[in-house]
Amino acid sequence: MATLLGFTVPAPGAAVATYLVPGTSIKLTLAREVAPLLLGLARDFDREVEELIPGQCGGFNPRRIAGTSSWSRHAIGAAVDLNWLVHPQGRRNTFTPSQRAKIRAILGRYSHNGVKIIRWGGDYSRPDDMHFEINVSRTAAIAAAKALQGSGKPAGGPKPGSRTLRIGAVGPDVAFLQRWVGAKDDGRFGPATQDRVRRYQRIVGVPVTGVVDARTWDKILGR
Ligand SMILES: [Zn+2]
Repeated sequence: MATLLGFTVPAPGAAVATYLVPGTSIKLTLAREVAPLLLGLARDFDREVEELIPGQCGGFNPRRIAGTSSWSRHAIGAAVDLNWLVHPQGRRNTFTPSQRAKIRAILGRYSHNGVKIIRWGGDYSRPDDMHFEINVSRTAAIAAAKALQGSGKPAGGPKPGSRTLRIGAVGPDVAFLQRWVGAKDDGRFGPATQDRVRRYQRIVGVPVTGVVDARTWDKILGR
């Protein structure tokens, strides 16, 4: 069985899931084990560099690198393309200097044990400005994803997905939820979080209740 960075390639259906980029209506299909890394990057890109454009973003794609027999990291769900019509492959400097600086700052935040986790196609000799990919082994990427979600810290409070959340709920699982639906992650479920939950539920196609029950958690956790 072929592998790429320690992932089975192409990714079997069970290894990928479709997620919503927090705070947007953009859906990305990604490797479950490392999805928080690329979703976080896409969220930060949307907030800090350029708004994500519907229909111009993608993740998992079981294909080889054009003109070669090598698998693309899209084939393991470990790469994303953002705003592809605006930043086509082969064109240099499709971002302004200020946007490029912001991209560098974001990539710097996705580090673990001093190693950058994600690399950018804008740095390739044949530039691919839309493209971002995980550039460490599966083991290192999983460790980084866990650290990013705070699950590497000592257990405190309910685990995400272990209870129903509604207005008034408080805890680390609320903060986790807030990061996924694009609300401020203060760990307190108030009206603003409820609005974000409703919006999320509308987009992913579960009953729009504002209450995070098992059906909504299933969508968030890709289970
Ligand atoms: Zn790509």
